[in-house]
Amino acid sequence: MVSRVIPVDDFDLVIFGGTGDLAQRKILPGLYRRFCSGQMPESARIIGAARADLDSNGWRDMVRASIAEFSSVNRCDDARIDAFLMRLEYVSVDARGENGWKELARLVRKDIVHAFYFSVSPSLFGDLADRLYLHKIGNSDSRIVVEKPFGRDLKSAKELNATLAKHFDETQIYRIDHYLGKETVQNLMAVRFGNILFEPLWNSQYVDHIQITVAETVGVGGRGEYYDKSGAMRDMVQNHLMQLLCLIAMEPPSRFEPDEVRDEKLKVIRALEPVDPHHIVRGQYGPTDEKPDYREDVGDARSRTESFIALRTHISNWRWAGTPFYLRTGKKLKARTSEIVVVFKDAPHSIFGPEAGTHSNILRIRLQPNEGMTLGVTIKEPGPGGMRLLDVPLDMSFAETLGDDIADIPDAYERLIMDVIRGNQTLFMRGDEVEAAWAWTDPIIEGWERRHDVPKPYDVGSTGPEDALMMMHRDGRRWREIKE
Ligand code: NAD
Repeated sequence: MVSRVIPVDDFDLVIFGGTGDLAQRKILPGLYRRFCSGQMPESARIIGAARADLDSNGWRDMVRASIAEFSSVNRCDDARIDAFLMRLEYVSVDARGENGWKELARLVRKDIVHAFYFSVSPSLFGDLADRLYLHKIGNSDSRIVVEKPFGRDLKSAKELNATLAKHFDETQIYRIDHYLGKETVQNLMAVRFGNILFEPLWNSQYVDHIQITVAETVGVGGRGEYYDKSGAMRDMVQNHLMQLLCLIAMEPPSRFEPDEVRDEKLKVIRALEPVDPHHIVRGQYGPTDEKPDYREDVGDARSRTESFIALRTHISNWRWAGTPFYLRTGKKLKARTSEIVVVFKDAPHSIFGPEAGTHSNILRIRLQPNEGMTLGVTIKEPGPGGMRLLDVPLDMSFAETLGDDIADIPDAYERLIMDVIRGNQTLFMRGDEVEAAWAWTDPIIEGWERRHDVPKPYDVGSTGPEDALMMMHRDGRRWREIKE
Protein backbone atom coordinates (compact mmCIF):
# COMPACT_ATOMS: atom_id res chain seq x y z
CA MET A 1 0.00 0.00 0.00
CA VAL A 2 1.32 3.46 -0.84
CA SER A 3 0.36 6.03 1.76
CA ARG A 4 -1.09 9.24 0.47
CA VAL A 5 -0.28 12.33 2.48
CA ILE A 6 -2.15 15.42 1.39
CA PRO A 7 -0.31 18.55 2.54
CA VAL A 8 -2.36 21.14 4.40
CA ASP A 9 -2.35 24.89 3.81
CA ASP A 10 0.11 27.16 5.52
CA PHE A 11 -0.84 27.85 9.14
CA ASP A 12 0.08 29.34 12.49
CA LEU A 13 -0.86 27.06 15.36
CA VAL A 14 -0.72 28.63 18.80
CA ILE A 15 -0.57 26.12 21.64
CA PHE A 16 -1.67 27.72 24.88
CA GLY A 17 -0.19 25.48 27.57
CA GLY A 18 2.70 24.59 25.22
CA THR A 19 4.93 23.59 28.14
CA GLY A 20 2.29 21.32 29.70
CA ASP A 21 2.05 17.57 29.85
CA LEU A 22 -0.42 17.11 27.00
CA ALA A 23 1.46 19.43 24.63
CA GLN A 24 4.79 17.77 25.33
CA ARG A 25 3.59 14.17 25.30
CA LYS A 26 1.04 14.21 22.50
CA ILE A 27 0.58 17.41 20.54
CA LEU A 28 4.18 18.32 19.70
CA PRO A 29 5.51 14.80 19.00
CA GLY A 30 2.40 14.36 16.82
CA LEU A 31 3.08 17.53 14.88
CA TYR A 32 6.65 16.45 14.42
CA ARG A 33 5.48 13.20 12.83
CA ARG A 34 3.22 15.09 10.44
CA PHE A 35 6.17 17.34 9.58
CA CYS A 36 8.28 14.25 8.84
CA SER A 37 5.61 12.78 6.59
CA GLY A 38 5.61 15.95 4.53
CA GLN A 39 2.09 16.96 5.46
CA MET A 40 3.05 20.19 7.14
CA PRO A 41 4.21 23.01 4.88
CA GLU A 42 7.77 24.10 5.55
CA SER A 43 6.52 27.61 6.28
CA ALA A 44 3.95 26.53 8.91
CA ARG A 45 4.65 27.73 12.43
CA ILE A 46 3.87 26.48 15.89
CA ILE A 47 3.83 29.05 18.63
CA GLY A 48 4.02 27.92 22.22
CA ALA A 49 2.28 30.21 24.69
CA ALA A 50 2.42 29.41 28.38
CA ARG A 51 3.25 30.90 31.72
CA ALA A 52 6.86 29.69 31.96
CA ASP A 53 9.48 32.35 31.46
CA LEU A 54 11.26 30.83 28.46
CA ASP A 55 12.54 32.05 25.13
CA SER A 56 12.05 30.21 21.83
CA ASN A 57 15.35 28.37 22.17
CA GLY A 58 14.44 27.19 25.66
CA TRP A 59 11.13 25.83 24.39
CA ARG A 60 12.80 24.17 21.40
CA ASP A 61 15.15 22.33 23.79
CA MET A 62 12.15 21.16 25.77
CA VAL A 63 10.37 19.97 22.63
CA ARG A 64 13.50 18.22 21.31
CA ALA A 65 13.61 16.19 24.51
CA SER A 66 9.89 15.39 24.27
CA ILE A 67 10.23 14.22 20.67
CA ALA A 68 13.09 11.95 21.71
CA GLU A 69 10.98 10.52 24.52
CA PHE A 70 7.50 10.35 23.03
CA SER A 71 7.71 10.23 19.25
CA SER A 72 7.81 6.78 17.73
CA VAL A 73 9.31 8.05 14.47
CA ASN A 74 12.89 7.03 13.99
CA ARG A 75 13.21 7.74 10.30
CA CYS A 76 13.82 11.43 10.75
CA ASP A 77 17.40 12.53 10.99
CA ASP A 78 18.78 15.31 13.15
CA ALA A 79 18.55 17.75 10.28
CA ARG A 80 14.78 17.18 10.05
CA ILE A 81 14.40 17.61 13.80
CA ASP A 82 16.29 20.89 13.53
CA ALA A 83 14.11 21.97 10.60
CA PHE A 84 10.99 21.18 12.63
CA LEU A 85 12.27 23.02 15.69
CA MET A 86 12.96 26.09 13.57
CA ARG A 87 9.17 26.22 12.93
CA LEU A 88 8.70 26.78 16.68
CA GLU A 89 8.43 30.10 18.51
CA TYR A 90 7.59 30.74 22.14
CA VAL A 91 5.90 33.61 23.96
CA SER A 92 5.44 33.79 27.69
CA VAL A 93 1.77 34.66 28.12
CA ASP A 94 -0.50 35.06 31.11
CA ALA A 95 -4.08 34.10 30.27
CA ARG A 96 -5.31 36.24 33.15
CA GLY A 97 -3.02 39.23 32.67
CA GLU A 98 -1.57 41.43 29.97
CA ASN A 99 1.86 39.82 29.82
CA GLY A 100 2.82 38.56 26.36
CA TRP A 101 -0.33 39.36 24.39
CA LYS A 102 1.10 42.20 22.32
CA GLU A 103 4.04 40.04 21.32
CA LEU A 104 1.70 37.19 20.42
CA ALA A 105 -0.41 39.55 18.30
CA ARG A 106 2.74 40.60 16.47
CA LEU A 107 3.88 37.04 15.88
CA VAL A 108 0.67 35.60 14.44
CA ARG A 109 0.71 36.17 10.68
CA LYS A 110 -2.27 37.59 8.83
CA ASP A 111 -4.24 35.92 6.03
CA ILE A 112 -3.37 32.31 6.70
CA VAL A 113 -5.06 29.55 8.70
CA HIS A 114 -4.92 30.16 12.47
CA ALA A 115 -5.60 27.56 15.09
CA PHE A 116 -5.49 28.20 18.83
CA TYR A 117 -5.13 25.05 20.90
CA PHE A 118 -6.40 25.63 24.46
CA SER A 119 -4.26 22.98 26.16
CA VAL A 120 -4.83 24.55 29.57
CA SER A 121 -7.32 24.15 32.39
CA PRO A 122 -10.91 24.81 31.19
CA SER A 123 -11.12 27.53 33.84
CA LEU A 124 -8.86 29.59 31.53
CA PHE A 125 -10.86 29.10 28.31
CA GLY A 126 -12.92 32.24 28.85
CA ASP A 127 -9.84 34.35 29.64
CA LEU A 128 -8.05 33.13 26.52
CA ALA A 129 -11.07 33.72 24.29
CA ASP A 130 -11.55 37.25 25.71
CA ARG A 131 -7.91 38.19 25.26
CA LEU A 132 -7.65 36.82 21.72
CA TYR A 133 -10.64 38.98 20.90
CA LEU A 134 -9.35 42.04 22.75
CA HIS A 135 -5.98 41.90 21.03
CA LYS A 136 -7.55 41.15 17.64
CA ILE A 137 -5.53 37.98 17.24
CA GLY A 138 -6.97 35.77 14.52
CA ASN A 139 -9.96 36.32 12.29
CA SER A 140 -13.47 35.03 11.68
CA ASP A 141 -12.04 31.82 10.22
CA SER A 142 -9.69 31.10 13.16
CA ARG A 143 -10.21 27.80 14.93
CA ILE A 144 -10.00 27.02 18.61
CA VAL A 145 -9.34 23.55 19.92
CA VAL A 146 -10.54 22.67 23.40
CA GLU A 147 -9.68 19.65 25.48
CA LYS A 148 -11.70 17.50 27.79
CA PRO A 149 -13.17 17.77 30.32
CA PHE A 150 -15.86 19.86 28.68
CA GLY A 151 -17.73 20.73 31.86
CA ARG A 152 -18.55 18.45 34.78
CA ASP A 153 -22.32 18.52 34.35
CA LEU A 154 -24.93 20.01 32.03
CA LYS A 155 -24.90 23.38 33.75
CA SER A 156 -21.13 23.88 33.53
CA ALA A 157 -21.03 22.58 29.93
CA LYS A 158 -23.69 25.11 28.97
CA GLU A 159 -21.70 27.85 30.66
CA LEU A 160 -18.54 26.80 28.83
CA ASN A 161 -20.37 26.71 25.51
CA ALA A 162 -21.76 30.19 26.21
CA THR A 163 -18.30 31.48 27.15
CA LEU A 164 -16.79 30.28 23.88
CA ALA A 165 -19.82 31.44 21.86
CA LYS A 166 -19.16 35.03 23.02
CA HIS A 167 -16.32 35.32 20.51
CA PHE A 168 -16.43 32.21 18.35
CA ASP A 169 -18.98 30.67 16.05
CA GLU A 170 -19.73 26.96 16.48
CA THR A 171 -17.99 26.34 13.13
CA GLN A 172 -14.77 27.59 14.72
CA ILE A 173 -14.88 25.42 17.84
CA TYR A 174 -13.17 22.01 17.82
CA ARG A 175 -13.97 20.00 20.97
CA ILE A 176 -11.46 17.22 20.88
CA ASP A 177 -12.14 13.61 21.84
CA HIS A 178 -9.07 11.72 20.76
CA TYR A 179 -11.01 8.46 20.54
CA LEU A 180 -12.64 9.83 17.41
CA GLY A 181 -9.22 10.29 15.80
CA LYS A 182 -8.36 6.62 16.01
CA GLU A 183 -8.00 4.80 12.71
CA THR A 184 -10.35 1.99 13.71
CA VAL A 185 -13.08 4.38 14.71
CA GLN A 186 -13.11 5.83 11.24
CA ASN A 187 -12.81 2.37 9.81
CA LEU A 188 -15.93 1.47 11.73
CA MET A 189 -17.79 4.02 9.63
CA ALA A 190 -16.17 2.66 6.46
CA VAL A 191 -17.21 -0.87 7.38
CA ARG A 192 -20.74 0.13 8.31
CA PHE A 193 -21.46 2.49 5.45
CA GLY A 194 -19.10 1.27 2.74
CA ASN A 195 -20.32 -2.34 2.65
CA ILE A 196 -23.74 -3.72 1.90
CA LEU A 197 -22.90 -6.74 4.01
CA PHE A 198 -23.42 -5.36 7.49
CA GLU A 199 -26.14 -2.75 7.22
CA PRO A 200 -29.10 -5.15 6.77
CA LEU A 201 -28.02 -6.97 9.94
CA TRP A 202 -27.26 -3.85 11.95
CA ASN A 203 -30.39 -3.72 14.09
CA SER A 204 -32.20 -5.35 16.97
CA GLN A 205 -33.57 -8.09 14.76
CA TYR A 206 -30.11 -9.56 14.24
CA VAL A 207 -27.91 -8.03 16.94
CA ASP A 208 -28.27 -9.62 20.36
CA HIS A 209 -26.27 -6.99 22.20
CA ILE A 210 -23.26 -4.70 21.95
CA GLN A 211 -20.40 -4.40 24.43
CA ILE A 212 -18.02 -1.47 24.64
CA THR A 213 -15.00 -1.93 26.90
CA VAL A 214 -12.21 0.51 27.64
CA ALA A 215 -9.91 -1.16 30.17
CA GLU A 216 -6.77 0.41 31.55
CA THR A 217 -3.99 -1.15 33.60
CA VAL A 218 -2.83 2.17 34.99
CA GLY A 219 -4.32 3.79 38.06
CA VAL A 220 -4.97 7.48 38.53
CA GLY A 221 -1.23 8.17 38.60
CA GLY A 222 -0.38 11.80 39.23
CA ARG A 223 -3.90 12.94 38.30
CA GLY A 224 -5.43 11.81 41.61
CA GLU A 225 -6.77 15.17 42.69
CA TYR A 226 -8.46 15.84 39.34
CA TYR A 227 -9.70 12.28 38.91
CA ASP A 228 -11.25 12.03 42.35
CA LYS A 229 -13.52 14.95 41.49
CA SER A 230 -14.70 13.31 38.28
CA GLY A 231 -14.55 9.49 38.36
CA ALA A 232 -15.00 7.03 35.52
CA MET A 233 -18.47 8.28 34.57
CA ARG A 234 -17.36 11.84 33.91
CA ASP A 235 -13.82 11.02 32.77
CA MET A 236 -14.62 8.20 30.34
CA VAL A 237 -18.28 7.33 29.86
CA GLN A 238 -19.76 10.76 29.21
CA ASN A 239 -17.28 11.41 26.41
CA HIS A 240 -15.22 8.52 25.00
CA LEU A 241 -17.62 5.61 25.48
CA MET A 242 -20.57 7.75 24.51
CA GLN A 243 -18.87 8.72 21.26
CA LEU A 244 -18.13 5.09 20.42
CA LEU A 245 -21.73 4.20 21.21
CA CYS A 246 -22.92 6.92 18.85
CA LEU A 247 -20.78 5.73 15.96
CA ILE A 248 -21.85 2.13 16.35
CA ALA A 249 -25.54 2.95 16.72
CA MET A 250 -26.18 5.98 14.49
CA GLU A 251 -28.24 5.94 11.32
CA PRO A 252 -26.32 6.35 8.05
CA PRO A 253 -25.72 10.06 7.54
CA SER A 254 -26.65 11.27 4.06
CA ARG A 255 -23.05 12.35 3.47
CA PHE A 256 -19.78 12.07 5.36
CA GLU A 257 -19.89 15.74 6.30
CA PRO A 258 -19.49 17.26 9.76
CA ASP A 259 -23.05 18.28 10.51
CA GLU A 260 -24.62 15.27 8.81
CA VAL A 261 -22.55 12.92 11.00
CA ARG A 262 -23.01 14.97 14.15
CA ASP A 263 -26.78 15.27 13.64
CA GLU A 264 -27.01 11.47 13.60
CA LYS A 265 -24.83 11.10 16.70
CA LEU A 266 -26.97 13.63 18.53
CA LYS A 267 -30.11 11.63 17.74
CA VAL A 268 -28.55 8.55 19.35
CA ILE A 269 -27.67 10.41 22.55
CA ARG A 270 -31.15 11.89 22.76
CA ALA A 271 -32.68 8.43 22.31
CA LEU A 272 -30.70 6.90 25.19
CA GLU A 273 -32.95 5.63 27.94
CA PRO A 274 -32.27 6.65 31.54
CA VAL A 275 -30.27 3.92 33.25
CA ASP A 276 -31.93 1.84 35.93
CA PRO A 277 -29.69 1.87 39.07
CA HIS A 278 -29.87 -1.94 39.07
CA HIS A 279 -28.02 -1.91 35.78
CA ILE A 280 -25.02 0.06 36.91
CA VAL A 281 -22.06 -1.22 38.88
CA ARG A 282 -19.53 1.21 40.28
CA GLY A 283 -16.18 -0.02 41.51
CA GLN A 284 -13.02 1.25 43.17
CA TYR A 285 -9.69 -0.58 43.14
CA GLY A 286 -8.65 -1.82 46.55
CA PRO A 287 -8.34 -2.28 49.41
CA THR A 288 -5.79 -4.88 48.34
CA ASP A 289 -2.39 -6.15 49.25
CA GLU A 290 -1.01 -4.36 46.23
CA LYS A 291 -0.40 -0.77 47.24
CA PRO A 292 -1.27 1.95 46.66
CA ASP A 293 -4.99 1.39 46.21
CA TYR A 294 -7.38 3.99 44.87
CA ARG A 295 -7.94 5.84 48.14
CA GLU A 296 -4.22 6.10 48.77
CA ASP A 297 -3.68 7.23 45.18
CA VAL A 298 -6.09 10.12 45.60
CA GLY A 299 -5.17 10.84 49.22
CA ASP A 300 -8.69 10.49 50.58
CA ALA A 301 -9.35 7.49 52.83
CA ARG A 302 -13.13 7.96 52.46
CA SER A 303 -13.36 8.70 48.75
CA ARG A 304 -16.55 7.40 47.12
CA THR A 305 -15.44 8.12 43.54
CA GLU A 306 -15.60 5.23 41.06
CA SER A 307 -12.56 4.04 39.13
CA PHE A 308 -14.71 1.43 37.38
CA ILE A 309 -18.13 1.45 35.89
CA ALA A 310 -20.26 -1.07 34.05
CA LEU A 311 -23.76 -0.26 32.88
CA ARG A 312 -26.52 -1.37 30.59
CA THR A 313 -28.47 1.06 28.50
CA HIS A 314 -30.96 0.99 25.64
CA ILE A 315 -31.58 3.21 22.66
CA SER A 316 -35.26 3.96 22.14
CA ASN A 317 -35.64 3.95 18.39
CA TRP A 318 -36.84 1.58 15.70
CA ARG A 319 -33.40 0.23 14.93
CA TRP A 320 -32.31 -0.63 18.46
CA ALA A 321 -35.41 -1.12 20.62
CA GLY A 322 -34.76 -4.22 22.74
CA THR A 323 -30.99 -4.46 22.08
CA PRO A 324 -28.95 -3.79 25.22
CA PHE A 325 -25.71 -1.82 25.03
CA TYR A 326 -23.25 -2.71 27.78
CA LEU A 327 -20.54 -0.20 28.59
CA ARG A 328 -17.59 -0.93 30.83
CA THR A 329 -14.46 1.00 31.73
CA GLY A 330 -12.02 0.97 34.59
CA LYS A 331 -8.54 1.50 35.90
CA LYS A 332 -6.00 -1.02 37.21
CA LEU A 333 -7.74 -3.84 35.37
CA LYS A 334 -6.29 -7.05 34.01
CA ALA A 335 -5.18 -5.72 30.62
CA ARG A 336 -5.14 -2.57 28.55
CA THR A 337 -7.69 -2.89 25.82
CA SER A 338 -10.39 -0.88 24.09
CA GLU A 339 -12.89 -2.68 21.96
CA ILE A 340 -16.41 -2.70 20.66
CA VAL A 341 -18.04 -6.09 20.27
CA VAL A 342 -21.19 -6.65 18.26
CA VAL A 343 -22.72 -9.98 19.21
CA PHE A 344 -25.18 -11.22 16.61
CA LYS A 345 -28.07 -13.50 17.43
CA ASP A 346 -27.86 -17.24 17.02
CA ALA A 347 -29.07 -18.76 13.76
CA PRO A 348 -32.83 -19.30 14.17
CA HIS A 349 -32.60 -23.06 13.78
CA SER A 350 -29.67 -25.43 13.83
CA ILE A 351 -29.83 -28.04 11.12
CA PHE A 352 -26.82 -29.76 12.71
CA GLY A 353 -28.58 -30.89 15.84
CA PRO A 354 -27.94 -30.07 19.50
CA GLU A 355 -24.49 -31.70 19.61
CA ALA A 356 -23.14 -29.03 17.18
CA GLY A 357 -23.75 -26.44 19.93
CA THR A 358 -24.88 -22.84 19.49
CA HIS A 359 -22.71 -20.37 17.67
CA SER A 360 -23.14 -16.68 17.14
CA ASN A 361 -21.22 -14.37 14.88
CA ILE A 362 -19.23 -11.75 16.67
CA LEU A 363 -17.68 -8.62 15.20
CA ARG A 364 -14.83 -7.31 17.34
CA ILE A 365 -13.55 -3.84 16.65
CA ARG A 366 -10.28 -3.28 18.48
CA LEU A 367 -9.16 0.27 19.14
CA GLN A 368 -6.09 -0.61 21.13
CA PRO A 369 -3.74 -2.30 21.20
CA ASN A 370 -3.28 -3.69 17.71
CA GLU A 371 -6.05 -1.74 15.95
CA GLY A 372 -8.17 -3.90 13.69
CA MET A 373 -11.33 -5.92 13.31
CA THR A 374 -12.20 -9.57 13.63
CA LEU A 375 -15.35 -11.23 12.42
CA GLY A 376 -16.05 -14.55 14.07
CA VAL A 377 -17.65 -17.02 11.64
CA THR A 378 -18.72 -20.59 12.17
CA ILE A 379 -17.22 -23.32 9.99
CA LYS A 380 -16.99 -27.08 10.00
CA GLU A 381 -14.18 -28.39 12.12
CA PRO A 382 -11.86 -29.94 9.52
CA GLY A 383 -11.38 -33.69 9.36
CA PRO A 384 -13.46 -36.75 10.01
CA GLY A 385 -15.80 -37.18 12.94
CA GLY A 386 -19.03 -35.79 11.61
CA MET A 387 -20.33 -32.26 11.50
CA ARG A 388 -18.68 -30.48 14.37
CA LEU A 389 -18.74 -26.70 14.24
CA LEU A 390 -15.93 -24.34 15.04
CA ASP A 391 -15.75 -20.56 15.43
CA VAL A 392 -12.82 -19.01 13.56
CA PRO A 393 -11.86 -15.37 13.24
CA LEU A 394 -11.66 -13.55 9.93
CA ASP A 395 -8.95 -11.22 11.09
CA MET A 396 -8.14 -7.80 9.74
CA SER A 397 -5.27 -6.59 11.83
CA PHE A 398 -4.03 -3.28 10.48
CA ALA A 399 -0.45 -4.11 11.40
CA GLU A 400 -0.57 -7.32 9.35
CA THR A 401 -2.58 -5.95 6.45
CA LEU A 402 -0.65 -2.75 6.06
CA GLY A 403 2.83 -4.01 6.96
CA ASP A 404 5.41 -1.23 7.14
CA ASP A 405 2.87 1.36 6.06
CA ILE A 406 1.31 1.18 9.52
CA ALA A 407 4.14 3.47 10.63
CA ASP A 408 2.66 6.18 8.41
CA ILE A 409 -0.80 6.02 9.94
CA PRO A 410 -1.16 9.16 12.01
CA ASP A 411 -2.09 8.68 15.62
CA ALA A 412 -5.30 10.22 16.91
CA TYR A 413 -3.88 13.59 17.94
CA GLU A 414 -1.94 14.07 14.70
CA ARG A 415 -4.95 13.34 12.57
CA LEU A 416 -7.24 15.56 14.57
CA ILE A 417 -4.86 18.51 14.54
CA MET A 418 -4.51 18.23 10.77
CA ASP A 419 -8.33 18.13 10.53
CA VAL A 420 -8.44 21.39 12.48
CA ILE A 421 -6.04 22.98 10.00
CA ARG A 422 -8.16 21.67 7.12
CA GLY A 423 -11.29 23.01 8.79
CA ASN A 424 -12.98 19.61 8.99
CA GLN A 425 -15.16 19.23 12.10
CA THR A 426 -16.48 15.72 11.39
CA LEU A 427 -14.46 14.08 14.14
CA PHE A 428 -15.11 16.76 16.77
CA MET A 429 -18.01 17.04 19.18
CA ARG A 430 -20.56 19.73 18.62
CA GLY A 431 -21.81 21.81 21.56
CA ASP A 432 -25.31 20.28 21.52
CA GLU A 433 -23.85 16.76 21.51
CA VAL A 434 -21.83 17.47 24.63
CA GLU A 435 -24.83 18.98 26.37
CA ALA A 436 -27.06 16.03 25.43
CA ALA A 437 -24.43 13.63 26.81
CA TRP A 438 -24.41 15.50 30.12
CA ALA A 439 -28.21 15.57 30.19
CA TRP A 440 -28.12 11.75 30.14
CA THR A 441 -25.23 11.48 32.61
CA ASP A 442 -26.36 14.00 35.24
CA PRO A 443 -29.35 12.06 36.67
CA ILE A 444 -27.17 8.95 37.05
CA ILE A 445 -24.57 10.83 39.07
CA GLU A 446 -27.22 12.70 41.05
CA GLY A 447 -28.80 9.35 41.94
CA TRP A 448 -25.51 8.12 43.44
CA GLU A 449 -25.11 11.31 45.38
CA ARG A 450 -28.65 11.12 46.72
CA ARG A 451 -28.21 7.51 47.79
CA HIS A 452 -24.65 8.07 49.14
CA ASP A 453 -23.66 5.21 46.88
CA VAL A 454 -20.39 3.52 47.79
CA PRO A 455 -18.47 1.84 44.95
CA LYS A 456 -17.74 -1.87 45.20
CA PRO A 457 -14.09 -2.77 45.83
CA TYR A 458 -12.20 -4.76 43.22
CA ASP A 459 -8.76 -6.31 43.03
CA VAL A 460 -5.99 -4.67 41.10
CA GLY A 461 -5.40 -6.75 37.95
CA SER A 462 -8.94 -8.18 37.97
CA THR A 463 -11.83 -7.57 35.56
CA GLY A 464 -13.63 -5.30 38.04
CA PRO A 465 -16.15 -6.03 40.79
CA GLU A 466 -17.97 -9.36 40.84
CA ASP A 467 -21.28 -7.47 40.57
CA ALA A 468 -20.38 -6.41 37.02
CA LEU A 469 -20.18 -10.06 36.01
CA MET A 470 -23.43 -10.77 37.80
CA MET A 471 -25.16 -7.91 36.00
CA MET A 472 -24.43 -9.68 32.71
CA HIS A 473 -25.20 -13.15 34.03
CA ARG A 474 -28.65 -12.03 35.10
CA ASP A 475 -29.26 -11.15 31.44
CA GLY A 476 -27.99 -14.57 30.34
CA ARG A 477 -24.87 -13.06 28.74
CA ARG A 478 -21.15 -12.81 29.37
CA TRP A 479 -18.62 -10.04 29.11
CA ARG A 480 -15.88 -10.65 26.60
CA GLU A 481 -12.63 -11.49 28.27
CA ILE A 482 -10.40 -8.49 29.00
CA LYS A 483 -7.15 -9.33 27.26
CA GLU A 484 -4.58 -7.63 25.10
P1 NAD B 1 -0.45 20.91 32.65
O1 NAD B 1 -0.77 21.35 34.04
O2 NAD B 1 0.66 19.94 32.45
O3 NAD B 1 -0.10 22.20 31.78
C1 NAD B 1 -0.84 23.38 31.89
C2 NAD B 1 -0.28 24.42 30.95
O4 NAD B 1 -1.07 25.59 31.11
C3 NAD B 1 1.16 24.81 31.24
O5 NAD B 1 1.84 24.99 30.01
C4 NAD B 1 1.03 26.16 31.94
O6 NAD B 1 2.13 27.05 31.73
C5 NAD B 1 -0.20 26.71 31.27
N1 NAD B 1 -0.86 27.73 32.10
C6 NAD B 1 -1.34 27.56 33.36
N2 NAD B 1 -1.85 28.74 33.80
C7 NAD B 1 -1.67 29.63 32.80
C8 NAD B 1 -1.98 31.01 32.64
N3 NAD B 1 -2.56 31.72 33.62
N4 NAD B 1 -1.66 31.60 31.48
C9 NAD B 1 -1.06 30.91 30.50
N5 NAD B 1 -0.76 29.62 30.57
C10 NAD B 1 -1.06 28.99 31.72
O7 NAD B 1 -1.82 20.39 32.03
P2 NAD B 1 -2.03 19.28 30.89
O8 NAD B 1 -2.01 17.94 31.52
O9 NAD B 1 -1.10 19.55 29.76
O10 NAD B 1 -3.55 19.53 30.46
C11 NAD B 1 -3.94 20.61 29.63
C12 NAD B 1 -5.42 20.45 29.25
O11 NAD B 1 -5.57 19.22 28.55
C13 NAD B 1 -6.36 20.36 30.44
O12 NAD B 1 -7.58 20.92 30.08
C14 NAD B 1 -6.55 18.84 30.64
O13 NAD B 1 -7.77 18.55 31.24
C15 NAD B 1 -6.53 18.40 29.19
N6 NAD B 1 -6.14 17.00 29.02
C16 NAD B 1 -4.90 16.56 29.37
C17 NAD B 1 -4.55 15.25 29.17
C18 NAD B 1 -3.19 14.74 29.51
O14 NAD B 1 -2.92 13.57 29.21
N7 NAD B 1 -2.33 15.54 30.09
C19 NAD B 1 -5.48 14.35 28.60
C20 NAD B 1 -6.73 14.84 28.24
C21 NAD B 1 -7.05 16.16 28.43
